[in-house]
Amino acid sequence: MPEIAERLKHLPPYLFAEIDKKKREVRARGVDVIDLGIGDPDLPTPPHIIHALQKAAEDPANHRYPSYEGMLAYRQAVADWYAKRFNVRLDPEEEVLTLIGSKEGTAHIPLAFVNPGDVVLVPDPGYPVYAAGTWFAGGDVHWMPLRRENGFLPDLDAIPAEVARRAKLMYLNYPNNPTAAVATRDFFARVVAFARRHGILVCHDLMYSELKFDGFEPPSLLEVEGAREVGVEFHSLSKTYSMTGWRLGFCVGNRAAVAGLGAVKTNVDSGVFQAVQIAGIAALTGPQDLAERYRRTYEARRNIVVAGLKQLGWEVDVPKGTFFVWAPVPGGLDSRSFATRLMEEAGVVVTPGVGFGPSGEGFYRIALTVEQARLAEAMERLKRLTL
Ligand SMILES: *Cc1c(COP(=O)(O)O)cnc(C)c1O
Repeated sequence: MPEIAERLKHLPPYLFAEIDKKKREVRARGVDVIDLGIGDPDLPTPPHIIHALQKAAEDPANHRYPSYEGMLAYRQAVADWYAKRFNVRLDPEEEVLTLIGSKEGTAHIPLAFVNPGDVVLVPDPGYPVYAAGTWFAGGDVHWMPLRRENGFLPDLDAIPAEVARRAKLMYLNYPNNPTAAVATRDFFARVVAFARRHGILVCHDLMYSELKFDGFEPPSLLEVEGAREVGVEFHSLSKTYSMTGWRLGFCVGNRAAVAGLGAVKTNVDSGVFQAVQIAGIAALTGPQDLAERYRRTYEARRNIVVAGLKQLGWEVDVPKGTFFVWAPVPGGLDSRSFATRLMEEAGVVVTPGVGFGPSGEGFYRIALTVEQARLAEAMERLKRLTL
């Protein structure tokens, strides 16, 4: 057996494995653990989507290899959805690509545009896949700290000229995991100008565009003038329609970028089961009432958590999107010690901010993926805690 490759040794230790271990220990002691660490919807996929899959799975035409770029009907449904939701017109043949979940696309796109030694601009804290995908392609990560005083948006002026010159890609993600921050069109316009100046491809992860609160409508990067020349957007049905297990997403935007990612995928995978893509069409074009009910469910859960933390006198910004609450650790503890104490003394699991990058230190993340009564119970338990 050969030694493991350098690129795997390079990956940072997986903090969540440590949390899982502690969780098992606490559970083994008989504690009723309330797990607010899971970024995976607890609500079921709407039935009409499941029925579309069942029917499509019975059709032998769907049993063969699908096309690499995805079914045109699915890509058309994506284009129609973008037109309706963002007023962005996309050519389904050249500007839309089917993905095996958006994670797959965000992980693979550096292979199309990053040479060894090139720089990729990555948000810190952030979804770990952006850095891992960069390293797998031999690129160097330049971290862009997301600070609360900047609304958890990266400070583009703080990126050294020398780094910007070497940069090929920039990852962004708004509404944001883990900070739950949102971005405006103004910010995206500044990003587009920066990207044009430096010849950078912007990879915007728009995963949480439909988990939106208080009437806020998260914009698409592609709404901004000139964005199509420098950007792509990644999205999927995972969070909006509670379909994380189905593995269905898409990449849209710049033609050359879509083609480059497509060329990588042609050599790696053979597309998404057509029955799943047909179910995806049902999700995007069918009734939205259940998705809307889920959105309101997350909003109500958010309200419980925000009210609970405020009652404790703990600081919290009210999130306008995602199913996360991101808040400063009270009492001067570091985020890991705080999470450990919450688990051991209250049986409540939260994710320490440092797990998403060094700039996440001093914060913790609560996932709104458990029902209201359990969230309320978690808030009660925190009240009894003395930090
Ligand atoms: C959940 C999540 C993903 C994964 O999406 P899939 O479509 O299920 O692969 C991607 N990005 C962010 C920021 C996420 O939170």
